[in-house]
Amino acid sequence: MSSNSGIQIPSRLPLLCTHDGVLLPGSTMRISVDTARNMQLVKSRLLKGTSLKSTIIGIIPNTRDPEHDSDELPSLHSIGTAGLAVQVVGSNWPKPHYTLLITGLCRFRVTQLLRERPFPMAEVEQLDKLEQYTEGDPADGELGELAQRFYQAAVQLVGMLDMSVPVVAKLRRLLDSLPRETLPDVLASMIRTSNKEKLQVLDAVDLEERFKKALPLLTRQIEGLKLLQKTRKLRPDDDKRVLAIRKGGVFPGRQFSLDEEVEDEDGDDNVLLEKKVKAAAMPEAALRVCLKELRRLKKMPQSMPEYALTRNYLEMMVELPWSKSTTDCLDIRAARVLLDNDHYAMEKLKRRVLEYLAVRQLKSTLKGPILCFVGPPGVGKTSVGRSIARTLGREFHRIALGGVCDQSDIRGHRRTYVGSMPGRIINGLKTVGVNNPVFLLDEVDKLGKSLQGDPAAALLEVLDPEQNHSFTDHYLNVPFDLSQVLFIATANTTATIPPALLDRMEVLQVPGYIQEEKVEIAHRHLIPHQLEQHGLTPQQLQIPQDTTQEIISKYTREAGVRSLERKIGAICRAVAVKVAEGHRVSRAESPTEQLADQNTENKVEDSGIAAPPEMPIVIDHIALKDILGPPLFEMEVSERLTLPGVAIGLAWTPMGGEIMFVEASRMEGEGQLTLTGQLGDVMKESAHLAISWLRSNAKTYFLSSGSADPLESTDIHLHFPAGAVTKDGPSAGVTIVTCLASLLSGRLVRSDVAMTGEITLRGLVLPVGGIKDKVLAAHRANLKRVIIPKRNEKDLEEIPAHVRADLDFVFASTLDEVLNAAFDGGFPSAVSHPQVVSKL
Ligand code: ADP
Repeated sequence: MSSNSGIQIPSRLPLLCTHDGVLLPGSTMRISVDTARNMQLVKSRLLKGTSLKSTIIGIIPNTRDPEHDSDELPSLHSIGTAGLAVQVVGSNWPKPHYTLLITGLCRFRVTQLLRERPFPMAEVEQLDKLEQYTEGDPADGELGELAQRFYQAAVQLVGMLDMSVPVVAKLRRLLDSLPRETLPDVLASMIRTSNKEKLQVLDAVDLEERFKKALPLLTRQIEGLKLLQKTRKLRPDDDKRVLAIRKGGVFPGRQFSLDEEVEDEDGDDNVLLEKKVKAAAMPEAALRVCLKELRRLKKMPQSMPEYALTRNYLEMMVELPWSKSTTDCLDIRAARVLLDNDHYAMEKLKRRVLEYLAVRQLKSTLKGPILCFVGPPGVGKTSVGRSIARTLGREFHRIALGGVCDQSDIRGHRRTYVGSMPGRIINGLKTVGVNNPVFLLDEVDKLGKSLQGDPAAALLEVLDPEQNHSFTDHYLNVPFDLSQVLFIATANTTATIPPALLDRMEVLQVPGYIQEEKVEIAHRHLIPHQLEQHGLTPQQLQIPQDTTQEIISKYTREAGVRSLERKIGAICRAVAVKVAEGHRVSRAESPTEQLADQNTENKVEDSGIAAPPEMPIVIDHIALKDILGPPLFEMEVSERLTLPGVAIGLAWTPMGGEIMFVEASRMEGEGQLTLTGQLGDVMKESAHLAISWLRSNAKTYFLSSGSADPLESTDIHLHFPAGAVTKDGPSAGVTIVTCLASLLSGRLVRSDVAMTGEITLRGLVLPVGGIKDKVLAAHRANLKRVIIPKRNEKDLEEIPAHVRADLDFVFASTLDEVLNAAFDGGFPSAVSHPQVVSKL
């Protein structure tokens, strides 16, 4: 029955093998494609092709496409449907695949398979005519009679449906206008039929046979509906519901189905949504937008992608806390107690927070500055934020800004594409469900910048009290009042906070802790907390103060207490195993009291963790080593200074202060300087400055033996260990000079001295930053003397008195003073220098 006239499909077609669903001419179907050959076909034909012809492909039903390109192609079902790819949507989730929307055009038969790879291509013979069907009606003989019967059955079926549904009315009209020949295909794909039945209809190339195959299916559907109507007569209201047909066109899988109640549920949903919109107490402007969207939604067929988009939008709008808020229960005395209970030390910070809260209490509409806690990690910035929320009785939400480099992260995506969503601020509000939470903007110093706009600029709008009462998220597209939200920011350093943002915040420095404070924090907060987390009690596990001190000095080296907390967690885990085992043993064997006592004793003197599980388990020195392994930072600083050419500097990092070694060695050569240890430009300059100053002052300090230049035919290598960390900044100048002076003179630098300061070519020492953190680092490392620039003397005020008492400070304004303080017995020079006064 090949047609020689009329519209022809291409004689060669690429073949798409499907196995779940049968596409019949005249209907449309979604096909998911994920196998190798099918994917290739989509990529090279549908996505690349530009002509209409290239969007026509052959769909071969009932044939599974092999997973791998290399596998053999199974034998193809001989009859397929030529289809027009109307839409191709690609996705990578959960694996790469495409979803095609294909409209069936006509049947074809595969006459010859031309190739199998990269996708099958075949010579085909068109089996159905594609042009307008013969006007002369085909109602002759048996075929005509069959067609008439089929038509009447179809009319009967549609008559049983609810005509008020627009699609049903349209279908009714269609029945009259469609040529009779197409009815079996169209109706078979609409009514409830199995794939096997559809395949039979497809295989029925002869029209008469096709009518014969499809008619019983139609009759079956009619009978089913009749039966249903009968049973539902008792509940007449349900009738329409049962018979309703989905909107959205003729898709297989969208057949009339007996149990399809989804449609009306959606209708209900929309009514429900409308109620919610009205109950959400949103401002006038937002309500107007919502009602408008609702009206649009009601008119939209569900299959439109925009339907889901609009629904999501509306659901978001009703969930937002437009006028829901908690009442503040602020009592300054209670707040002070709570802050003190939650946090040890940090007096200055707590004082400032209380001031802030007190002002809030006196003046409820506060447009005050935004607090920004700046300090190393693990010093309790986040946890103070959480306490503030608790004292106010407000909800708390943390927004991590680290790495955010797209402004739509803050301000949302415009609602123009699928997957658009609101920004983190609006999302946060939705999560907490009230409009006056405490928002902690964590890590504002780690905001990025990219082509997608500057998130800092978006944050400005959020934080500015003058603007944030009408913050407009791109997704919502209506203003939301953020003025009730209390924002608190945290950062490790102010250096990388965008200046405009910094300008709106009040910076509160949160310094690192000294050893004694850490011990207190551990015993008051961290240990009880960890015990609770691991289901242990103080009667089961005891960590004496000595052990805590050992953990702090030998297993952690940090400004905060985060890794201390982790180590305590590790101990708790190890003990939890013992305790759990103990439970089992005691139940199974119930050891005598005596035995238990012995065991406990054994444990304390012997290896703690190997001890039996009787309580309490005391973590002593040996147990600690058993659980945490050998100490990580055992090497005493003094051990590293046993050779000339090593000195200790002090460095500032966003993680707090650090001590830093500088090593130098000399060898025969041509006076070259080698620098290693990932140094920045400023650091390299300091090294050159140091060498020049030493060369010019070599005679004065008796550094040159014989020749005038100590570096003649000598190469110098300067190394800054911890080479994985980039180091830059001017403050290592004095350390490099001291280190080189030690190398050239062959004398040892005092092993308990650390220093910091910038140098000039003339030998002056200039002030540097981060003195407080640097001094705390020196104190942590058990050093005794700290050399700092004279003009930094005033910075010592910030340092706790007992730390100051432990250290011997030398304030140097010239390199001569530095050298004298760094070496035992001073550093002799030929001339006693006249006092040089810095004018910088
Ligand atoms: P940050 O935000 O500064 O990086 P966190 O607030 O997350 O640090 O603190 C890490 C942990 O240390 C938390 O469990 C916190 O409770 C605890 N912590 C830090 N400082 C103190 C302190 N002064 N008193 C009690 N606990 C503290």
